[in-house]
Amino acid sequence: MKSKKLNLNIKKIRNDFPILSQKINGKDLVYFDNASTSQKPLSVIEKLSSYYKQTNANVHRGIHRLSEKATEEYEGVREKVRDFINARSTEEIIFVRNTTEALNLVMRGWAWSNLKKGDEVILTKMEHHSNIVPWQFLQQNGVRLKFIDLNQDGTLKMDDFDQLITKKTRLISATHVSNVLGTINPVKEISKMAHDNGSVFVLDAAQSVPHMPVDVKDIDSDFTAFSAHKMLGPTGIGILHAKKQILAETDPLLYGSDMIKEVGLTKTVFTDAPWKFETGTPNIADTIAFGASIEYLNEIGMDKIREHEKELTDYALLKLSNLSGVSFYGPTNPEIRGGVISFNMNNGKIKVHAHDIAQILDEDGIAIRSGHHCCMPLMKFLNVPATARASFYLYNTKEEVDRFVDALEKVKSVLKI
Ligand code: PMP
Repeated sequence: MKSKKLNLNIKKIRNDFPILSQKINGKDLVYFDNASTSQKPLSVIEKLSSYYKQTNANVHRGIHRLSEKATEEYEGVREKVRDFINARSTEEIIFVRNTTEALNLVMRGWAWSNLKKGDEVILTKMEHHSNIVPWQFLQQNGVRLKFIDLNQDGTLKMDDFDQLITKKTRLISATHVSNVLGTINPVKEISKMAHDNGSVFVLDAAQSVPHMPVDVKDIDSDFTAFSAHKMLGPTGIGILHAKKQILAETDPLLYGSDMIKEVGLTKTVFTDAPWKFETGTPNIADTIAFGASIEYLNEIGMDKIREHEKELTDYALLKLSNLSGVSFYGPTNPEIRGGVISFNMNNGKIKVHAHDIAQILDEDGIAIRSGHHCCMPLMKFLNVPATARASFYLYNTKEEVDRFVDALEKVKSVLKI
């Protein structure tokens, strides 16, 4: 199973993920729901357990040995994250719960007080609800939302930006990789367009940071959001990266506890970023285990992971295009496509519901996702209520893609399409 071109030792990688050796319905598990959440290697699981066995203490507070060790490990992860996305400083790395919280922090903490009546925000029609719903709150202040349309192949209509950007555009927010279409958007270009117009650029990197090298300095995003659980890390820990200058104009979401320098009865002086944004006892254990997931990804190499997923996606798209009754969405050019394949099945007369596809595949031990994928506006654009979605990661193989395609043949025969 060793990939010749990439030297990814998949067999060895798979051995690092205990969950993958499980049987579902007596069949080897094929886990193709990675866009939802990824599996965890032993090193991450063990880090979590060893933290509780050997280090557990609160951070930033005690001067005893355990607290010092916990603080050192916790803050060490901030540096690992900084290095992973090539941020300028650890002061720009804020620990939050997930991508959704990170985007909410940008809305409440920056946009809410900086955008006024008549100002405009530009989003795209392929955004996850987490990058739409928070911005809708700004409408209460008279801010207008505008949306970049999509081409039929699931790419952004880049020419739309020229028409939509005006002097009133204060913020543009876009996903780097679509969690439905797999489209990799030209975010460096969008970031430049935003900055040429004096607008702030927010990057939803939930589906890119786990799967390819992402350099926030190169993209020049002002805010960048992503989640540890999609990149081999634990749930409950995510990142908001923000440029230092803009962070100085950003308010915290939560107040109290240790985000202070001095507290009086009616007045408080806050501490510096990033701690000003992380009040209350944080998610110490999961953050420290997140550090182990970054180490794991670094050891494999993000370039190799991207190449492996590209190869798998190409292979799967080719096989699917030879399967009658299956239509998939998103671009076919592998250079602008991540490892996500959304599809539906019909024979012109019968439309199969995506949930039925997922259920039949589950009987074969194959885990895919079905539904609107938190992208209802995109479903409307595609003119479907739901899609089935297979999404890949570093531990998936071509043999698993073969099993997936065979299972779709079974769906066709069971549902007689
Ligand atoms: N944005 C995108 C593009 C996503 O795929 C997801 C997760 N599906 C999110 C945001 C939200 O991530 P989380 O649930 O970790 O907050």
